[in-house]
Amino acid sequence: MLNNNDILREPPYDFEIEKIVDVILRGGYKKILIQMPDGLKIYSKYIRDEIVKRVGNVEIVFSGDSAWGSCLLDDVEATRGGYDLLVHIGHIEYPYYKSSHRTLFIPAYSRLSISEDLISKLFDALDLYKINSVGVVSTIQHIKLLPEILKVLSTRYKVFKGSGLGAVMGCEYSSAIAISRYVDAYVIISGGVFHGLGLGLSVLGKPVIKLDPYESRVVDLTKEIDKILRIRIHKIHEASEARNWVLIDGVKGQNRSWFRRYLEQLIKSRGGDYIVYVSENITKDLLINIDSSWVDAYIILACPRIPIDDLYDFYKPVLTPAEARMILTGKKDRYYFPW
Ligand code: SF4
Repeated sequence: MLNNNDILREPPYDFEIEKIVDVILRGGYKKILIQMPDGLKIYSKYIRDEIVKRVGNVEIVFSGDSAWGSCLLDDVEATRGGYDLLVHIGHIEYPYYKSSHRTLFIPAYSRLSISEDLISKLFDALDLYKINSVGVVSTIQHIKLLPEILKVLSTRYKVFKGSGLGAVMGCEYSSAIAISRYVDAYVIISGGVFHGLGLGLSVLGKPVIKLDPYESRVVDLTKEIDKILRIRIHKIHEASEARNWVLIDGVKGQNRSWFRRYLEQLIKSRGGDYIVYVSENITKDLLINIDSSWVDAYIILACPRIPIDDLYDFYKPVLTPAEARMILTGKKDRYYFPW
């Protein structure tokens, strides 16, 4: 068992220090801002030491804000603070946001491996379904495990890797959707349930099995996904007669004014009314502050996981953009996530 000192000496992630150093030296950069998710912040001293050891005189500052995704790049602070380079660790670039600030993305690939015992549990979980083909995707951290898992699964099933890298984000499942028609079930390599649940909502009707290298567990998420879908359908039903809406847009990569304008038109065409907010932090408290007897329902344009994961128990319906579109267009024949 590794203790805290061990993981600080030898982190279970590849922070690609040589790549960071190379970019800094080649650019002659002197002031660096590093942004990473809360779960990686424990490694800040290791990262600082390793860079300074190789580069010498360089100023390194870490962003203390939560970095849920690369959608919320700290580029405004990087520019305001005069940083030569922003290093974003923990994600790949968000497909819907191109920053004008010089940014290096370091995915922080996990060094964890998969045991034979875990593989056997994975087969046990898949055996519960009558399936011939399996699609496999991963969060970017575990993407290097994909070839091995595909190979093992191919001894029993027809296997398909998600398109491109085979990587998914909390609101980006195009790589899984692209292979949907070929596969009977999905395996996702990830920690937590966040990505697995999002995957299930994106490819409805297919079993989703999570292979978790952190906890060395296999979890069938299929029932949990069904439960969340039922909650979402209930929310849509609750908001179906809504006339007055609050639309909350986000900032940076979470700014979706293109979708907001579309929903605004739909609300107007139905004789409804709306007010618009923009915020980086969308919490229950914000909704409570906005709320009045005038408001019938909320639409969160920023991060589509907020209505599903954080605000699902708010006392008025809080919808994703795609859920609101179902109501406003009257097209409720199938559920869409995330857009
Ligand atoms: S799920 Fe939310 S936090 Fe994650 S990348 Fe998408 S918008 Fe960003």
